[in-house]
Amino acid sequence: MRLYDTRAKAVVPIVPARIGALSIYACGPTVYRDAHVGNMRTFLLTDLIRRTAELSGLAVTVVQNITDVGHMADDTGLGDGGIDEGQGAGEDKVLKQAAVEGRAALDIAREYEARFHRDLSALNIYPATHYPRASESIDLMIELIGTLMGRDHAYVGGDGSVFFDARSFAGYGELSGNRLDDLRPGHRFDGEVDPAKRFHADWALWKRAQDTRTQLVWDTPWGVGFPGWHTECSAMSLSLLGSDIDVHTGGIDLRFPHHEDERAQSNCATGTDVVRHWVHGEHLLFEGRKMSKSAGNVVLVSDLVARGLDPLALRLAFLQHRYRQQMNLTWDGLAAANATLARWRDRVATWATEPSAPLPEAVGRVVSALEDDLDTPRAITALRALERDPDVPAGAKFEAFAYLDRVLGLDLVRDVGRPAVAEPFPDVVATLLADRAQARATKDWAGSDRLRDELAALGYPVVDTPDGQQVQR
Ligand code: AMP
Ligand code: ZN
Repeated sequence: MRLYDTRAKAVVPIVPARIGALSIYACGPTVYRDAHVGNMRTFLLTDLIRRTAELSGLAVTVVQNITDVGHMADDTGLGDGGIDEGQGAGEDKVLKQAAVEGRAALDIAREYEARFHRDLSALNIYPATHYPRASESIDLMIELIGTLMGRDHAYVGGDGSVFFDARSFAGYGELSGNRLDDLRPGHRFDGEVDPAKRFHADWALWKRAQDTRTQLVWDTPWGVGFPGWHTECSAMSLSLLGSDIDVHTGGIDLRFPHHEDERAQSNCATGTDVVRHWVHGEHLLFEGRKMSKSAGNVVLVSDLVARGLDPLALRLAFLQHRYRQQMNLTWDGLAAANATLARWRDRVATWATEPSAPLPEAVGRVVSALEDDLDTPRAITALRALERDPDVPAGAKFEAFAYLDRVLGLDLVRDVGRPAVAEPFPDVVATLLADRAQARATKDWAGSDRLRDELAALGYPVVDTPDGQQVQR
């Protein structure tokens, strides 16, 4: 497989560190709200890399962190300092939401974490091998910070917070193109360097907590505090995947400062270049605009379901665009994808009744498009051509769609070979059936007969069997 490597600024072959295996670290959600469809696009990127690698026989390990502490409301990195940022724009996202909802921080975090898993599963995104939580990885972070201090890459600042010494890492800026001298001090210090740190581009690995903070704080060799956001990803990735990680994914906004800083930490702690390939997904726009709370256009997976759309229509809509191009999602686009999905499932069910046949050549074209930096639009075009190709027997089309669905993940064969799933009864019918069961249980035969007539009048005739009443559909 080849992927666009942010640091190399080119599409490069992915050569894993271990033969037959691929390790992926994916930046996960900050669990203070539901993930929106933009976040889901980035999570799908990891799933596509994984499924494409698995199709070629690699054993894939995926680690995705759950950020339940340390991610500040202002994560631009312009003023990523210590204790002075404990207020306002620098507030922890989970703590802020906990205050809004009047609940404990970890309560909020666990709820949104569960909802994140529900959304992943609705999009057929395979679960990661490990989901380490930041709040449960504090010991690893303390160890990492100790290592960095021991190697003179970190120091205790004027406010008791521990800072990474940006100038101590020669490779700083290779991911984002930002040069240390070009980074200017944060606005919170009126263009001056935060007095707690030695250099404006240094960032806090560990922040000293103000006395007023009672949740999400830990006692450490550097006093009571909490981790800086970038610290967790270095600590967890090194601990679970080691110091030679094949692929690291995330949305494009994470390139700087999050990944630039994580790379500095991991490389300085180990003395090696830890991540072989950084892969970033471009952002999703909705109806032409950036999704944001203030613009009121944040769309969730549950919003799609509420409109009667199959969540996998979102997956297909994503596949119609390449991950490293910005994509504008629209309701019309989703409706079109929904219709394509329904048509493909119908066709696949029909083809399934024909004699089986060997995989057609088109499969190779789809797989090579996927392996060519996840060119999913080309893969979908090839799939559409196969769908229409009069020279390919139906049984071969069935085999092709079923095989490729291992990567596409669109549930294209879900009804094949299984009895059709019955529509649920309308509420009024369900109520009458329950009443009639109750009437029969109490030997109210007159009531039971009356209800049977009502049901029949609605088009739901019932018969009584040894297993109870049954509707003749
Ligand atoms: P968060 O939960 O905010 O930490 O974000 C989770 C992931 O979603 C990160 O990898 C972000 O880079 C990514 N992300 C955030 N907004 C968008 C967007 N509009 N489109 C695509 N990915 C996004
Ligand atoms: Zn991360």
